[in-house]
Amino acid sequence: MSINNNIKFLLDLEEENIVENNFLRNDYVVLKNGVTAKRIHFISSTKFYVCPFCGQIIYKLHDYRTVDLKYNSCGPQPLIVSIKKKRFECEDCNKTITEDLKCVKKHCFISNKVYQSITFSLKKIDSLTDIANNHNVSTSTVYRSLQKVDNINLPNTLPSVLSFDEFKANTSEGKYAFLVVDPINKSILEILSDRKFSSVYKYFSRFNRKVRNRVKYIISDLWEPYRQIILKLFPNATLVADKFHYQRVVNVALNSVRKRISNSLDNKTAYQIKRNWRLLNKNFDDINDKRRYFSHLLKRPVTDYEVLNYILSLNSELANAHSLYQDFLYIINLDNSEKQIQLLDKWLELAIKYNISEFDSVIKTIKKWYKPICSSFIKYEGRTLSNGFIEGCNNKIKVIKRVSFGYRSFINFRKRILLVFY
Ligand SMILES: [Zn+2]
Repeated sequence: MSINNNIKFLLDLEEENIVENNFLRNDYVVLKNGVTAKRIHFISSTKFYVCPFCGQIIYKLHDYRTVDLKYNSCGPQPLIVSIKKKRFECEDCNKTITEDLKCVKKHCFISNKVYQSITFSLKKIDSLTDIANNHNVSTSTVYRSLQKVDNINLPNTLPSVLSFDEFKANTSEGKYAFLVVDPINKSILEILSDRKFSSVYKYFSRFNRKVRNRVKYIISDLWEPYRQIILKLFPNATLVADKFHYQRVVNVALNSVRKRISNSLDNKTAYQIKRNWRLLNKNFDDINDKRRYFSHLLKRPVTDYEVLNYILSLNSELANAHSLYQDFLYIINLDNSEKQIQLLDKWLELAIKYNISEFDSVIKTIKKWYKPICSSFIKYEGRTLSNGFIEGCNNKIKVIKRVSFGYRSFINFRKRILLVFY
């Protein structure tokens, strides 16, 4: 292999008709942003050119034109590939024609390889600024590359288990975007710009009845429009309430009780309750009964377990709310759907008996979503159906949004998410 070919191979420079320019030494140039780049020189070795206007073969050389192209560097320093192109003169139609290069688009100074590399970087959760700096281009160039990404081919069928949820997108198209995933095969099926009934309905209507009828389970949060869509479009699907969402409803009620009770107590005690709110929310089995520390409230060394018991002893309503919450955690984490349903019924009776105002809405919610909640106790292929995968997606999306300081355009945000996930 000649040196020429070695360099081209190293740079992945697919340009047959150029050779090393022996008249110019490789040098350094200072770029607009003040960074020094390495520059290597090539010259065209094209012998003849076909006139694009009249089709004649042209041999007559008019002059040269030099272009400096940004290229992917092999080292830490940016790289400029300078190519001295030929301009031919057609003797038939008197036109001068500059030869085209394969490695770059017309009127562009950033090589195709750099664009390819940018697209590849967009698949990772790096900020647009970082990608721009690594490629020595402007952030808007990176943004344009993202805009140019062709639509990623998403699966055009539906799996037997679906899971959907919304996430805060804050783009010009709306606050909440809608995410549909296949939780079993762990893949994103679609991202919609909003979670409105009409948009979600329109999306699922794209699939024919036969495909929709194959869907067996749909996991979602407690959002009425979703239920309506499932009733209308998925006759064979069981709606499964997402554990995380309904557990939160009970958790929120407990915290509201805590806040109300705190307000009726003296400042010092209220402050201590506020400080230890996490103890109330923690699963009782995980409360530490060994590690001791000094409590200003009790004026002696205590364990978390003792602090919790002290707080609960202050008010019976708070104690009841806490035990309802703990019972609820116990029920939803059991491994026996029949028993879980029995206990949930008992739990509802007890909640009604306790008559805590903050739990009124909880009872209402659980009654309203009773069936989907019970469905969340059943197992599909040996595991409970939860929105765990989709929550993971949401967390990753949050990071993507954060490193990019948000996206104004939903289309670009969607593209970036899909690039990262596919
Ligand atoms: Zn011509």
